[in-house]
Amino acid sequence: MNAPLQTARNPVDPLKLEKLAELAVKVGLQLQRGQDLVLTAPIAALPLARLITKHAYKAGAGLVTTFYADEEATLARYAHAPDESFDRASDWLYQGMAKAFANGAARLAIAGDNPMLLASQDPQKVARANRANSTAYKPALEKISNFDINWNIVSYPNPSWARQVFPDDPETVAVEKLANAIFAASRVDVDDPVAAWNEHNANLRRRSSWLNEQRFAALHFTGPGTDLSVGLAEGHEWHGGASTAKNGITCNPNIPTEEVFTTPHALRVEGHVSSTKPLSHQGTLIDKIEVRFEAGRIVEARAARGEEVLKKVLDTDEGARRLGEVALVPHSSPISASGILFYNTLFDENAACHIALGQCYSECFLDGASLSQEQIRSQGGNSSLIHIDWMIGSGEVDIDGVRSDGARVPVMRKGEWA
Ligand code: ZN
Ligand code: ZN
Repeated sequence: MNAPLQTARNPVDPLKLEKLAELAVKVGLQLQRGQDLVLTAPIAALPLARLITKHAYKAGAGLVTTFYADEEATLARYAHAPDESFDRASDWLYQGMAKAFANGAARLAIAGDNPMLLASQDPQKVARANRANSTAYKPALEKISNFDINWNIVSYPNPSWARQVFPDDPETVAVEKLANAIFAASRVDVDDPVAAWNEHNANLRRRSSWLNEQRFAALHFTGPGTDLSVGLAEGHEWHGGASTAKNGITCNPNIPTEEVFTTPHALRVEGHVSSTKPLSHQGTLIDKIEVRFEAGRIVEARAARGEEVLKKVLDTDEGARRLGEVALVPHSSPISASGILFYNTLFDENAACHIALGQCYSECFLDGASLSQEQIRSQGGNSSLIHIDWMIGSGEVDIDGVRSDGARVPVMRKGEWA
């Protein structure tokens, strides 16, 4: 029998995917001639990983090394591994990555895992595995969180993620919708994405410059279920969009990004705050979080869903109950305007103002590159194995900047820049 050749339509526009790969290499990383690249990707993101590899070598990459993660393999561990497996992690792999970074390699991660992959697994095992992984990852993560190297995250519309975001659509439709949402948010659905990013970076720089001139002592958030004063670290510095790593390369770590962000004071956060969007944390959904801070520390925590996981997260270490980031995003940002809940922090954190539990970014201090860990701590910078962003902004939240003499300046009204 001679059946007619059927070409299935690709739900992921190959031209836009190619633009995304090129953007990740040229704007996301600014990968340098001769620079090595460590790439991680879910196995479903193979088409994007290959295009990124191609553009990395075209940009002169020395060596691109890719590590793939497989959701089926992860589930096989939860189904069949002996109990002691959940206290283990591939420390040798992360030590190798840390060595590559120390030798000048850049880092690119393709995000797109199924956010609910571990939702029905034993939360104790999930927490133990996460903790073991965070501990093992520390030497490599430090090079990223200290901004020693140029790094970038982009996303691929993995079918298992797309089904979570668009549960009422058939898989191909869900993948196409998610792909288009990723392309729009990443600004690759325009003729010249590099020019669009230059303009976007300039806008973000204007916001962060204004905030840096203000030298606020604190930000005060008020809204439904929220009355929170977030003291800012001494010598804090606001960042947004492109910034320069300690290796001298100016990169855009997150694609997409809409936020300007800085370091709160680990000891000066007071009041209560409610989350405005669900938080998807390593395969579990934590929703309707309510916490109360005293002297910078979370002393009460509740969640309508995922409370047990939240409490495990807060018990990771001493710094896990304190803030390491505060970020401002207007309610009208394109990701927020899309109305899509992505169940992925890279997108959802760029739809709303947010705070992060845990580790601070040393780049968010004046002259941050030259400060020791001890100096960062004495200026109010937090340290922890975790860094977890969750959304506290909405069209109903107001923010005042508070100067050291108590004077107040409107920063945002009903979720928009005042
Ligand atoms: Zn952020
Ligand atoms: Zn963050």
